[in-house]
Amino acid sequence: MSGEIALQIIGVFFGIFALIVAIVLYFTRGMAKDRNISEIKKKQIDVIDKHFNDMVRVECPYCHTLYPIDKSSCPTCGADTKKIQFPKMPD
Ligand SMILES: [Zn+2]
Repeated sequence: MSGEIALQIIGVFFGIFALIVAIVLYFTRGMAKDRNISEIKKKQIDVIDKHFNDMVRVECPYCHTLYPIDKSSCPTCGADTKKIQFPKMPD
């Protein structure tokens, strides 16, 4: 039963991310007429990175605080660490 919940969490996680990518691609496509293609691609990557950073959390191995991946150190104990915390896979 817990395995099904974990699968649902992973499904929602990637579903939202795919939706954000689709929306960004849809809205930036209309700007292609009067803008440089490489500039638009760069903007797309920036926006996608920003949303991805909001969704992915880093877990501090010392105090187990979860914080955004764009922070360079733990806001609670100040430890400089990078451990990406993804939803746990079902056994
Ligand atoms: Zn910490």
